[in-house]
Amino acid sequence: MAYAYDTNNIFAKILRGEIPCNKLLETEHSLAFHDIRPQAPHHVLVIPKGPYVTFDHFALEASDAEKADFLTAIGKVCAALGVQPGEGGAGYRAISNAGNDGVQEVPHLHVHILGGRVLGRMLE
Ligand code: IMP
Repeated sequence: MAYAYDTNNIFAKILRGEIPCNKLLETEHSLAFHDIRPQAPHHVLVIPKGPYVTFDHFALEASDAEKADFLTAIGKVCAALGVQPGEGGAGYRAISNAGNDGVQEVPHLHVHILGGRVLGRMLE
């Protein structure tokens, strides 16, 4: 299966430095920045630097180094926000929307990290 990556999507432009972002942290293969339309007191997007459209695309085609880096970046974001339940934080939600049914707006893989308020039940 071939995944088509649109190099003109807004996160590709952020990665190329063509438009600014409010950066929280950057690692070798990943970037985390604050969402421009926050849905909670903490709302950060974590993206891989590689051209991956969705979580499944990344899971199937990224290198082990990229995967390890991305997971670590997500952990570092949670630590930076102070939301880890095991470390005294109040918790968070990690979401990745994919495709039409997932109502994905930007076709570059991103994981939303939301926290700072009780988020309500999602899956019932
Ligand atoms: P999704 O693709 O539906 O998961 O959501 C894309 C997210 O990207 C939305 O929450 C937007 O607010 C966010 N977004 C779009 N453009 C920018 C930007 O330039 N900077 C930061 N966040 C953005």
